[in-house]
Amino acid sequence: MRHLWKILMLIWRAEQVALLRGVALSITVLVMGLALLGLSGWFITAAGLAGLLGLGTTFDIFRPSAGVRFLAIGRTAARYGERLLNHDATLRALAALRVRLMQALAAQGWERLGRLRGSEMLNRLGADVDALDGAMLRLAIPAVAAGVTLGLALVVMSLLTTPLLAIASVGSFTLGGVLALIWVTMRARKPSRRAGRAVQALRIRMIDLLRAKADLAVMGRLAGARASTLAASARLDAARAASDAVEHRANGRLGATTTIATTIALFLGVMSAREGLISAPQAALGFFVMLAVAETLAPLRRGLTELGAMLDAAARVDHLLGDTPEPRGHARAVRPDPMAPALEIADLRYRYPGAAAPVVDGFTLRVQPGEAVALMGRSGSGKSTVLHLAAGLIAPESGTIRLAGRPLADWSEEALRNHVGLLPQRSTLMRGTIAEALRLGAPEASEADLWAVLEVVQLARVISERGGLDANLAEAGAGLSGGEARRLALARLLLRRPRLLLLDEPTEGLDDATADRVMTGLRDFAPRASILIATHRLPPAKAAWRIAAMA
Ligand code: ATP
Ligand code: MG
Repeated sequence: MRHLWKILMLIWRAEQVALLRGVALSITVLVMGLALLGLSGWFITAAGLAGLLGLGTTFDIFRPSAGVRFLAIGRTAARYGERLLNHDATLRALAALRVRLMQALAAQGWERLGRLRGSEMLNRLGADVDALDGAMLRLAIPAVAAGVTLGLALVVMSLLTTPLLAIASVGSFTLGGVLALIWVTMRARKPSRRAGRAVQALRIRMIDLLRAKADLAVMGRLAGARASTLAASARLDAARAASDAVEHRANGRLGATTTIATTIALFLGVMSAREGLISAPQAALGFFVMLAVAETLAPLRRGLTELGAMLDAAARVDHLLGDTPEPRGHARAVRPDPMAPALEIADLRYRYPGAAAPVVDGFTLRVQPGEAVALMGRSGSGKSTVLHLAAGLIAPESGTIRLAGRPLADWSEEALRNHVGLLPQRSTLMRGTIAEALRLGAPEASEADLWAVLEVVQLARVISERGGLDANLAEAGAGLSGGEARRLALARLLLRRPRLLLLDEPTEGLDDATADRVMTGLRDFAPRASILIATHRLPPAKAAWRIAAMA
């Protein structure tokens, strides 16, 4: 509940004025409905009595009938305005919430971002925010409007009929209505939660199915994955049907409450009229107003049916909003010292969260300015981890890392990213043209620059045969061979001209001749850059590479 309240407050603060107007119009709609039925009831009865008593010539039928028409049309107009304003305000607030969520997600540390599943992110931004749109529209606003209108109905009925009639009828309706709504809330909570979970599962499975379709097909698991996706869909349908059933039964309960309350109003009205406390038209007014009072609580039914899913979604969204990104550096403008070692790692120790033993322990390495070093070691010895530590993506448990003489922690994120270029072991190419892929980190690069880096990684011929820089890459770089995609990612990095290059297996998947040419080209392209590569392959003999071994 606390989380939902926080989200409601967020929406409220973002769109106060529009929502206030919307609530005012919601109340107007309900009040006009009461007035319309009350006035009509009074009018019909009074007109009938006037006819019976032969007072037809003196009875004023014009003003009440004008009032009825005004209320009927005004109510429709107010309803239209209310729908427009409340939906507009809520949807705008939710759009802003989506942006904030996206920012919170994007500000996560590199480690957590890497672990996030795309489908989960989609669920947070899509299904969860969607679930919350009812919180304002179908819960908070109708609740406020219903409370105010019931209070008004009580006061006005007391004045126009008798206080006893007003309290007995409005009071019994409110009591019965609230009980019915509590019943809905309790009954619908489980199916609503189940529906919420099923929506999430359906999305996750659907995306996994699409993503891994090739693997699933070769493993012969495509049918199984499809069946489990369909099962989630069936669960969703069943949960929704259960929610709907609860809502229908709640409808019956609210109807019964209305019948009881109107009967009380009718009975007390007739009694009071007999005793001469009120006139017969006043008694009719009380009865008809009670018929309209039913409209106050009815809209809450739907919102309360969805409460379970809303609470779950609110908790997840609030949790994500509250996540503070891991702070990095003091954003000071450090000045690199060109004479100091390009990279100096001393006594480094790092343990992955939850791991029993550190992967890197007591590791020391120095790369001089302009030096090229190959970091070698068996698979799993921690080469990639060292590169990630040096790039400031993860923080060491102990030990020091200095870049160009300055402690890593002193670098601002922007300066650090400009200075260091990391080629991860698995890099991703996005959909788009070759030129777009290359310009990811260097939007200003000219076509000549693009061709120059393609030449370094031995891709110029392949790309020109494929249709040049405007050739399209399919999803995740499909359309290039594994080694070509890898070299394109390397070219993209070189284009940024970082002073320190950290390359994780840049020649993986290449034949010896191409690998040697890429390594030599790399050195020639950036003769003054300092280079550290993690690799299993001995660098070409003629280039001056120093070999460092992982423990
Ligand atoms: P390779 O030559 O196969 O690329 P590597 O030397 O680059 O290996 P790392 O990727 O640094 O090895 O991994 C070192 C060890 O840390 C491995 O045993 C690996 O299982 C573990 N490891 C890597 N990433 C994580 C992670 N995110 N969480 C937990 N353990 C991890
Ligand atoms: Mg590795």
